[in-house]
Amino acid sequence: MYFYMPTKIYSERDCVKKHGEEWARLGKKALIVTGRSSAVNGSLSDVKEVLESQGTGYCVFDETEANPSVEMVMKVRDYGIKENVDFVIGIGGGSPMDSAKAVALMIAHKEKGADFLYEKGDDTALPVVEVPTTCGTGSEATPYAILTVHAERIKASLPHKIYPVYALVDGKYLLGARRDILVNTSVDALGHFIESYINANATEFSRMLCEYGMGVWSSAKNVLIGADITAEECDKLLFASTLAGMAISHTGTALPHGLSYYLTYEKGIPHGKAVGYFLPGYLASADPLVRRKVLALAGFPDIQYFAAFIHNLLGPMSVDEELVTKAVRGMMSNENKLKNVPYHVTEDMLYQICNMAY
Ligand code: NAP
Ligand code: ZN
Repeated sequence: MYFYMPTKIYSERDCVKKHGEEWARLGKKALIVTGRSSAVNGSLSDVKEVLESQGTGYCVFDETEANPSVEMVMKVRDYGIKENVDFVIGIGGGSPMDSAKAVALMIAHKEKGADFLYEKGDDTALPVVEVPTTCGTGSEATPYAILTVHAERIKASLPHKIYPVYALVDGKYLLGARRDILVNTSVDALGHFIESYINANATEFSRMLCEYGMGVWSSAKNVLIGADITAEECDKLLFASTLAGMAISHTGTALPHGLSYYLTYEKGIPHGKAVGYFLPGYLASADPLVRRKVLALAGFPDIQYFAAFIHNLLGPMSVDEELVTKAVRGMMSNENKLKNVPYHVTEDMLYQICNMAY
């Protein structure tokens, strides 16, 4: 059993500005990787203000696509090399944060082509700073980056482990986000807790993060179905998401994430929403004692109540049989995910999980 979390995490109001003297001095020039909406909630202007006050140069790429592709990462890598940057700042949801890691890896390996992204080996990367603006992926506290691989019509995690050097976690950046973005990403964080807890790699450390974190998530979950969300409620949802990221850093994710990639690639269903549909089925397939414990920690009386809560939050989904078959077959050969499941997985079991999804 071990615990490794090399990212320095500041989780507090105005942490970008409060700790600028530290993170803005990671190099002489930063490449900021963000998206159009994730840049307009005050996060980008805070980051720029700090860089300017510290005399650190920067350039900005603000066209990160959702579910970033290998091709986009290579384009941003070329831009970073041309600008001679020496660290990378990701601002946004998982898409810009994961892109920042992949770009930081590829700038550090200028001589390599895109194939290097999926080759095991040297994980050296430029230093990365992450500023989350959604409350789901926890990418600010994980070593993972997930990219879309069009050549294989799927999304896949890089084998490289790139922990950010700094995570600057401030719930105020979530305030302007649309309700569906907060809902989908919060469900993703819950998925990380559940898949990390019911996981072959779980340890007392990772379970501790899940047990405490699900309590935080549970205390804020009703705001997802309520009216306005306050900055303090955003803080809680974001804190839960960072804790969930720390948990999956130690265990990886499992079946719901593996199955979700097919829905996202083929149907464009946002990540957290696609994961959420498979959570009731994954819980149902778990050991009954563990299932009861997880439900209690997340604040649900039973699996039926949980499934109704999730379906109510996410809305209806229609998926054709062909896609379900593709997802099940793909999952059966996805060794990286199967090894994280603490029991033997069969095709029948996967079909049952899919049947509970809609
Ligand atoms: P996202 O794709 O990063 O963002 C979703 C949408 O939210 C985008 O349209 C984005 O706009 C918008 N947005 C973000 N922050 C906003 C804000 N504060 N206000 C208004 N709009 C905002 O979604 P995500 O769910 O956070 O990330 C999903 C990605 O992360 C997937 O690729 C998934 O595979 C990956 N992931 C990574 C990990 C990990 O450990 N690294 C774990 C789970 C998932 P813009 O595009 O205009 O910015
Ligand atoms: Zn996820």
